[in-house]
Amino acid sequence: MILAGEWLLPVSRPPIRHGAVRVAGPRIVAIGTLDDLKRSYPADAVHVQPGCVIAPGLVNAHTHLSLTSLRGLFPPGEFPGWIARLAPVITALDEDDYADAVSFGALECLRSGVTVVGDIAFGPEAPAAAADAGVGGVFFWEVLGGDVDTLAQRLDGHDFPTDAGSCDGRTLCGLSPHSPYTSGPGLMKAVYQHARRYGYAHAIHIAESTAEIRLLAAGEGALRQTAERLAVGFTPPGTGGIRYLEHLGVLKDSVAIHCVQLMPGEAELLAAHAAGVVLCPRSNRYLLNGRPPVTALREAGARMAVGTDSLASNESLDLFAETRELLGADPGMTAKRALAIMTLEGAQVLGAARDYGSLEVGKYADVISVAVEATADPVETLVREGTPSRVRSVISAGVWRVIDGKPAFLTAELERKNARVAEKAARALNRT
Ligand SMILES: [Zn+2]
Repeated sequence: MILAGEWLLPVSRPPIRHGAVRVAGPRIVAIGTLDDLKRSYPADAVHVQPGCVIAPGLVNAHTHLSLTSLRGLFPPGEFPGWIARLAPVITALDEDDYADAVSFGALECLRSGVTVVGDIAFGPEAPAAAADAGVGGVFFWEVLGGDVDTLAQRLDGHDFPTDAGSCDGRTLCGLSPHSPYTSGPGLMKAVYQHARRYGYAHAIHIAESTAEIRLLAAGEGALRQTAERLAVGFTPPGTGGIRYLEHLGVLKDSVAIHCVQLMPGEAELLAAHAAGVVLCPRSNRYLLNGRPPVTALREAGARMAVGTDSLASNESLDLFAETRELLGADPGMTAKRALAIMTLEGAQVLGAARDYGSLEVGKYADVISVAVEATADPVETLVREGTPSRVRSVISAGVWRVIDGKPAFLTAELERKNARVAEKAARALNRT
């Protein structure tokens, strides 16, 4: 099958006018102009998307798809109060609820042109449901609270794969200790070492709120009680978040999520040691955490990805809108860099660029087409004008997921299940 549009944006190389991609099975097998590919493969079916830019499936590098059903349940407000209200609702949901929420979240991803996520998962339900829908990426099992000694038992309890080789294919696995105020230093080190030893990706929410910074600086503020309850062995390091990770020896090659509240020198530390930073500017605004220091991170040379975070702290899983916030926050940010951040660079931050993030022979055939105005600069136009409603088609692993702007599978059942979980979550919130 050959898919073509006005422009093809491989990302790893310059745009191709009247470009096309050839898909066989789950992989990309050729790239070129439509004329060249038609000549070379005359027997292939050809799908031309008129007026469309063809691009790689987008990489939403920070999601909690298990919380998709919580959309609208928590109004925008300050982070410590928000997380205190959220925690009992999460506890009230079970594995079936998470699976239903992830199935609906995966549908929302595909409608927005996203085929790859960096998802925080509570167990195997999230990757299984996402894989069923055709969404791949890295799924970070979250481990927080409690003692180091129980780590192995808890990983077993959540069916964490016993070796990284078993998370092959489109689903890669990782670990996350959530944050410094929910995991003590011992647990953070143990989770990191487990990830390193077995070759899993490692991610952590860090330097997100001013409350977190006050806690790390002096053990004070609105997250103190949470830390006393969950972060066993925590003592305030008297530093910023990134330096704390470095002192614990858990920064190297880690995925650092948020990084809004950076201290002097910490952008450089991230650039030198972390796998990269995932920026979630709309979630940061929702929770009154401020704006991520995009210019400082770019100038320091940090690798960047972009994520929507969960629908408990964002209105949508629209990665175009999320990325445009980066352009607004940093006058030096180009459309070319922004496109990389939402595709190839995002995949690199997650450690998933071997298979995802660009249109290259050998990678998964995750290909989207987006209707934009005719243009001489397709990268600029896609980044400035892209919206979920302009996504005309989505293919992941060579399979059609969205055709003519509509999901290629029945959605009523997914919507009904999502509504059931949303009602259950609302009841749990009312009980608190
Ligand atoms: Zn998050």
